[in-house]
Amino acid sequence: MFLKGKTAIVTGSTSGIGLAYAKELAAEGASVMINGFGDADEIEAERVALAEVSGAPALYSDTDMTDPAAIEAMVARCTEELGGADIAIANAGIQHVAPIDDFPPEKWDAIIAINLSSAWHLARLTVPAMKERGWGRIICTASAHSLVASPNKSAYVAAKHGIAGLVKTLALETAQHGITVNCISPGYVWTPLVEKQIPDTMQSRGMTREEVMNDVLLAAQPTKQFVTPEQVAAQALYLCRDEAASMTGANLVIDGGWTAQ
Ligand code: NAD
Repeated sequence: MFLKGKTAIVTGSTSGIGLAYAKELAAEGASVMINGFGDADEIEAERVALAEVSGAPALYSDTDMTDPAAIEAMVARCTEELGGADIAIANAGIQHVAPIDDFPPEKWDAIIAINLSSAWHLARLTVPAMKERGWGRIICTASAHSLVASPNKSAYVAAKHGIAGLVKTLALETAQHGITVNCISPGYVWTPLVEKQIPDTMQSRGMTREEVMNDVLLAAQPTKQFVTPEQVAAQALYLCRDEAASMTGANLVIDGGWTAQ
């Protein structure tokens, strides 16, 4: 359990990739604060399970990542109840699929706030404690869409390219403080986020569900397999190891060969 005594905040960790990060971190003994929305009983069951696995306290925060003041309160609560975060994972994310002339401005604002600005706030608020300790890990979930684009995803692609730039900048700023800052860029991972965009893509491209899965989603992925949340979480765990101390400012691609094309 190499993370015993360490504290981690993972945003957007009530499902999908974020929950997989939380489970991997807890399995290595970290105290974890999870965040996101969903069924209260299911979230409480996950929280209890995380505490059991880690043997350390686990907390849940329902903070909305569109609200900077609430993010500040979330980090303050983590510091008070678990200690300052040693590991901060900015993972919360949403998607909206529509052509630019039909893209609701409020969806643009929400995607930029949740997928990009909340990562900046999380880093801003957690770096001071990391600097004090001379150790820290900031990890953002970017996407293959931090490197390449797809039509009808203007806000998402802009936010994810933004994450790739943010990570490089913060890596330079923190390089001499024992802190690493990296992003992980998965291809298509089978999670509720992907499942939810199928109906919109069916509509915007006039396709059936099977056509969207095979001709749009897996068309980009040479392996013809969805990436798993566990594969992504294993990469995050590696970044927390001392062996990864020199890996900073990197964009780690786990995309079944998508961006190799
Ligand atoms: P998901 O829908 O399973 O999880 C998203 C999480 O974010 C949930 O816990 C949800 O409650 C939370 N969330 C949503 N809005 C929030 C808000 N306003 N405030 C706080 N939490 C909020 O999706 P996922 O696929 O696990 O996505 C996680 C991250 O991985 C996202 O950043 C996404 O862009 C990225 N990603 C996903 C894929 C994929 O194919 N699934 C690929 C590349 C990158």
